[in-house]
Amino acid sequence: MANDKPAAGGAAPLPKNVCPACKTPNELNSLTCKKCGEIIKKSGKGSKAPQEYDATEGSFSPACIVIPAVLILGAVLFFLLAVGRGPKPGTCEYNQGQLGKALWRYNKAHPESRMTTLNQDELIRPSRGGKPQLKERLTCPVDPSARYEIDTDGVTVICTRCTKKR
Ligand SMILES: [Zn+2]
Ligand SMILES: [Zn+2]
Repeated sequence: MANDKPAAGGAAPLPKNVCPACKTPNELNSLTCKKCGEIIKKSGKGSKAPQEYDATEGSFSPACIVIPAVLILGAVLFFLLAVGRGPKPGTCEYNQGQLGKALWRYNKAHPESRMTTLNQDELIRPSRGGKPQLKERLTCPVDPSARYEIDTDGVTVICTRCTKKR
């Protein structure tokens, strides 16, 4: 038999199921000491870990649902913000944009007679292609007496009421 005595010092953690009273090594699954009958406490930490693993195994973790939901929600919000960023129909800014597009199309169709003073009657008149550059006359929703004009850059349409003079 090998002469391997345990190290001195009673407070040291006992290897395997060594009896805390008489230091007799016992079987791992033995509950009491085979020599003195002392109750041997099993080291609980080793057997607890698999149970914690089983608890998470097969069950839905909230993070599995919440994280994708947040990602999808963020993507939807980003999409809505990106699409709805422009001026809404019915606002003066929207009208200015529509008039600006109509003006750009008109000047492209009539490069030799570019419109220098905004003429909505001219824009709603059907062009050579049969379609008018502008569907209908637009008036400022804030102040109907305001007028839309071509800005000094010759491209942008401004409102005499809403657009701040630079
Ligand atoms: Zn014992
Ligand atoms: Zn306006």
